[in-house]
Amino acid sequence: MALRRALIFVGPPGAGKGTQSKLAAKECGLPHLSTGDMLRDAIARGTPLGKKVRPLLGRGELVPDDLVMSMVEERLSQPDCANGFIFDGFPRTLPQAEQLDGLLEAKGLGKPLVIDFCVSPDKLLRRLSGRLTCSVGGEIYNEFDAPPKVPGICDRDGGKLVQRPDDRPEVVKERLVAYEKQTKPLTDYYRRRGVLQVVDAGKSVDEVSRALNAILKRAEGPNGRL
Ligand code: ADP
Ligand code: ADP
Repeated sequence: MALRRALIFVGPPGAGKGTQSKLAAKECGLPHLSTGDMLRDAIARGTPLGKKVRPLLGRGELVPDDLVMSMVEERLSQPDCANGFIFDGFPRTLPQAEQLDGLLEAKGLGKPLVIDFCVSPDKLLRRLSGRLTCSVGGEIYNEFDAPPKVPGICDRDGGKLVQRPDDRPEVVKERLVAYEKQTKPLTDYYRRRGVLQVVDAGKSVDEVSRALNAILKRAEGPNGRL
């Protein structure tokens, strides 16, 4: 697929944005940009940004817009982002969305294509409480629904599987509140601009991927209908 577009995956924590971003990135040949992964990487490396944001992620609160925007702007200036990219977990606030519009215009990429991942709250809780991530390559598993072949070990690279500290129930509660208050309004913003597509993300990984690919196929090319 040759999609020259900024794709944005929005939806609550645990909706499957990361899982589908990895699949769509392969399908479309676009880089997968997860602001959550970038922030966790900064924390792991102990950079000044990492030190600032560590307590915020630990409490399930959003990182201030200015910090996220400079991180994103820096990433978008790299050559692999010239023809489009997939944002997973960004933007998460209206100011981030408005500033991203300016960046996309400056890059000549025009309007983004935004996919809203809809899932019922009970499924979200099951997915988050069972999520395991490879500490080496970032592969995503689920203890209940997508377990590795050998417990605790990544099928792909043998890395150790870990639970994200913010997937503990008390932090999950805060993240869902932050989503409802600060991120959900983005769907109206993008719907009004005619770029929002909704996907039933409560289905299986394969079914969601097929629905997503059908949308991306329609959007392909300079005169894509979305
Ligand atoms: P999930 O995919 O489960 O929703 P993420 O990995 O996207 O989680 O984000 C983890 C945490 O990183 C968030 O709870 C928040 O603290 C921070 N974060 C990630 N992206 C952003 C963003 N665009 N704006 C503000 N904070 C962010
Ligand atoms: P997000 O990036 O939106 O927070 P993830 O892609 O990390 O979500 O998925 C959260 C958890 O749900 C992971 O454990 C993943 O294996 C699982 N998962 C993802 N998509 C599905 C699906 N369609 N059905 C069942 N489980 C899923």
